[in-house]
Amino acid sequence: MFDKILIANRGEIALRVIRACREMGIASVAVHSTADADAMHVRMADEAVCIGPAPAARSYLSIPAVISACEITGAQAIHPGYGFLSENQKFVRALEDHDIAFIGPTSEHIGIMGDKITAKETMRELGVPCVPGSDGGVPDLDAAKTVAAEIGYPVIIKATAGGGGRGMKLARTPAELPDAFSTARAEGKAAFGNPEVYIEKYLGKPRHIEVQVFGDGKGAAVHLGERDCSLQRRHQKVFEEAPGPAITPELRAEIGRVCAEAAAGINYAGAGTVEFLYEEGEFYFIEMNTRLQVEHPVTEYVYDQDLVREQIRVASGLPLGFAQEDLAPRGHAIEVRLNAEKLPDFSPSPGRVTQYHAPGGLGVRMDSALYDGYTIPPHYDSLIGKLVVHGRDRPEALARLDRALGELIIDGVDTTVPLFRELLRQEAVLTGNYDIHWLEEFLSRGAPGA
Ligand code: ADP
Repeated sequence: MFDKILIANRGEIALRVIRACREMGIASVAVHSTADADAMHVRMADEAVCIGPAPAARSYLSIPAVISACEITGAQAIHPGYGFLSENQKFVRALEDHDIAFIGPTSEHIGIMGDKITAKETMRELGVPCVPGSDGGVPDLDAAKTVAAEIGYPVIIKATAGGGGRGMKLARTPAELPDAFSTARAEGKAAFGNPEVYIEKYLGKPRHIEVQVFGDGKGAAVHLGERDCSLQRRHQKVFEEAPGPAITPELRAEIGRVCAEAAAGINYAGAGTVEFLYEEGEFYFIEMNTRLQVEHPVTEYVYDQDLVREQIRVASGLPLGFAQEDLAPRGHAIEVRLNAEKLPDFSPSPGRVTQYHAPGGLGVRMDSALYDGYTIPPHYDSLIGKLVVHGRDRPEALARLDRALGELIIDGVDTTVPLFRELLRQEAVLTGNYDIHWLEEFLSRGAPGA
């Protein structure tokens, strides 16, 4: 087992990893930008190293700065959290060259899954059902027209290097295709340095269902069920739950088995998430994330497992701490993402938190790096916390979430809390009867705070 781990991240996820390290008796090293000198992760870690100025490109995304911090402090492994360098193949290759353990899969697997075209090809070969679409990249508009006519409109054009909801364009009709095609290519090139795109059938009313898998890197893998993350704004998740309200135990066992076998089939190491759109009883693979997800706590609650601890164990060469037959979901968990944003337009609201009080009590988990008097810097993403609840069943989890939101105090900045209080009054949310478009439609009728 490692003696010391460096956490190449900030905010709540850095705390999450530091907490796991402390429980395992492993020393932790925080890295931070000058803008984060007073951040909670810096205070909570055993050691901290300033790795650069505020812009992420010169600190949290700087591969030489992170590796130097590792060498100076003698950390043997790096946990990347999510975002930043977590799915950066060049970074993981550099660690492999420097003999620093990466708490995650191999650079090869990151490369395969980081390119959505190779990801889809690989998964299809492993027996995972995919969205109908082009076989591989679509080089020009003529080819796009042919493919779109074959699969039928509406279609979605996706940048193979895309992520975070960027590089995706909808074409409802042949007339909309040229624009969608060139915009997706331009976004892919500008944001990810790769203009290659592919085409998929656009599904009308799917749910976003993702399966948590875990591999030991040596051919064994298990699944920890699914999360329903259909409540999205601009393709970004805001509310996640497990188990999925639309997923039966039979469906879970079947799709879980397919995903675990796929992970085992490539000797996948550590935590991974296989994302699907789910419509009328069918699953369609869209992408695989080769890291810990923001929403992993809902799975931790219903499966009663510490996923970060397991990631660290696997990265150090230990076998999986659980077998498939040990894993059964219990109760229901919901997570809401608290962003420092001003409603109704969700504009960033950084600044000083004058008062912070976290909710507590049975079945309530608040993952946040906030504290009284903390100033949220404007340089990074607006997630300031995740409120996660667990109940014996879905109605209890919903009631607990409402109760916990009522206890939460964050003064001094605007947050998305009023949105969640409003969502908990909506029939679709109370019954779990929503799809990936529901939230946008709800917001278009007038968001809370309007
Ligand atoms: P990203 O990597 O940017 O997160 P994904 O491929 O995971 O992109 O898709 C993000 C979201 O976009 C999905 O959760 C879904 O809401 C929507 N989406 C993606 N593909 C399709 C599709 N074929 N049909 C309808 N919606 C889609």
